[in-house]
Amino acid sequence: MFGVVVVGMGIAGSVRLKELLNPLKSSPSENLKLVGFVSRRDLGSQNGVKQISLEEALTKSEVNAAFICTENHNHEESIRRFLEAGKHVLVEYPVALSAQAANELNQLAEQKGKVLHVEHIELITEDYKTLKKAVDGKELVEGVLNFTGGPLNKERSGFPSFSGIARLTWLVDLFGELTVTSAVLEENPGKNYSKLTAHFATISKRQLTWIEERAPGMKREKKVNFTFTTGVLDHLPSSSRGSVGLFMQDQNLFAQKLLGQVSKEELAAEKKRILHCIDLAEKIKQYCEN
Ligand code: NAD
Repeated sequence: MFGVVVVGMGIAGSVRLKELLNPLKSSPSENLKLVGFVSRRDLGSQNGVKQISLEEALTKSEVNAAFICTENHNHEESIRRFLEAGKHVLVEYPVALSAQAANELNQLAEQKGKVLHVEHIELITEDYKTLKKAVDGKELVEGVLNFTGGPLNKERSGFPSFSGIARLTWLVDLFGELTVTSAVLEENPGKNYSKLTAHFATISKRQLTWIEERAPGMKREKKVNFTFTTGVLDHLPSSSRGSVGLFMQDQNLFAQKLLGQVSKEELAAEKKRILHCIDLAEKIKQYCEN
């Protein structure tokens, strides 16, 4: 059994806590045992689980792994501390808010012989799986992925290319490694409005555009417009709801990694994709700032 603490009791942390208490039957998650949770607020206990201090979580020998569910700006520090303390880490995306930090954290995990798992639930949604099937085998001519949503606090969530890493991950998983060709960020702080537009070239020199637009009242929505040599895909294909929750699927993958059930090749491919996406996020930020 692996003792686990959840750090950060927001939306994601609360779901994690419930999923850890109710592991899917006969799944790898049955090897995870919730020891407690860490919060900056004084919450006492949640669903019968006791609150412990960060120091206790870092030093208790029965804690083998931490689920980092805090806001993005805190990920780097938390991951570093838990890895240094010899604990495995699961972190909600993005792993960090700079490419340098992401690389350093991966190196630290390797040095310590610990798992650093970055959640990417956007790749296991039924919507995404259906889209992936629809794109599979087609040759891209050009494409746009457009995301809209409510405003985020840049201080806590990071530059939009990092907080929107899920969209970048979609594009890379669908079309392979990309090169950033240009990027701009339009902002109107008075209206809490921001619009990031990033252009990429695929390996076969096809153009892709990612637009991430946020403002109060904007509906959380993704739109695609992909032109292939064989036709146009201008809407996300409809999909049904999966039977196992996304966080539970992710937790199972983490448990499989702890149990040594994920192949070296799969781990290497995943790490390459994650670091490539973080690198793209960093380049987009540099384009916008210059
Ligand atoms: P949230 O704002 O609801 O929760 C963050 C929580 O972390 C807050 O309760 C905050 O008080 C706490 N926190 C911050 N710093 C802390 C610290 N030093 N110690 C202890 N607690 C601390 O945000 P959220 O939606 O739960 O998102 C958390 C993370 O999960 C983000 O990185 C986000 O990108 C990721 N994520 C969220 C979802 C989702 O569906 N909500 C999905 C995928 C990934």
